[in-house]
Amino acid sequence: MKWTKIYLSLVLSTVLLTLQAQQPKQIPKMESAMTEIWEPVPEVVTPGKSKPDGTLSAPSDAIILFDGKNLSSWQDKNAGMAQWQVHDGVFTVNKGTGDIFTKQSFEDFQLHLEWMVPANISGESQYRGNSGVFLQNMYEIQLLDSYQNPTYVNGQAGSVYKQSPPLKNAMQSPGHWNIYDIIYTAPRFKENGNLLYPARVTVVHNGIVVQNNTQITGHTPNVGLPKYKAHGPGPLRLQDHGDPSAPLSFRNIWIREM
Ligand code: MG
Repeated sequence: MKWTKIYLSLVLSTVLLTLQAQQPKQIPKMESAMTEIWEPVPEVVTPGKSKPDGTLSAPSDAIILFDGKNLSSWQDKNAGMAQWQVHDGVFTVNKGTGDIFTKQSFEDFQLHLEWMVPANISGESQYRGNSGVFLQNMYEIQLLDSYQNPTYVNGQAGSVYKQSPPLKNAMQSPGHWNIYDIIYTAPRFKENGNLLYPARVTVVHNGIVVQNNTQITGHTPNVGLPKYKAHGPGPLRLQDHGDPSAPLSFRNIWIREM
């Protein structure tokens, strides 16, 4: 009798469990709190302040690369002192002394850079106010006098050089400052050196988007096709272009690592 009871209760509980399992599952009622994320809390950054010239100073977490005083954050290709000329709170390309490089290397970042083509600029096409900022020393965002100066469009100001023309021409006339805000995601490579994913860049030129999350297809040579070669963090490089036109000036350069 005892064993029959145990057997019956086992059968009953199995039947109940089976019935329970067959019942449609209850979908919990959604509430606002279920989709709220509370942590981690974004770090506080104090934005830059408006300056008399209408631009913003660097935010509190930026690395200052040039604040009008000296080129102590920069060096030449042999890791010697950068020979470009600092004057009046800006610096100017010293033609023939070569490109300059940040001492620090970077990976993903937001870069702010102001540059001016001088009012007395001469020359045509790529021989008129040519410079460039090379991201990670590899990928050139073109600087050029693109104010009424026709050239190949994937070589005008705001282009990823020889790859992607700017969406618009946002160039200021010579003698006026241009502002680049560049958001850059570095490429990543597999252990065997193959590309895992390419670099991407957004460029805002004087407040106008000229590159919108553009995929960079490799390095940016003047002659030849872009290729990727595995690399880690790299410096920024500013170009001392060989053309004979008057040199560009720079001011207010800062970067935020991301
Ligand atoms: Mg250039």
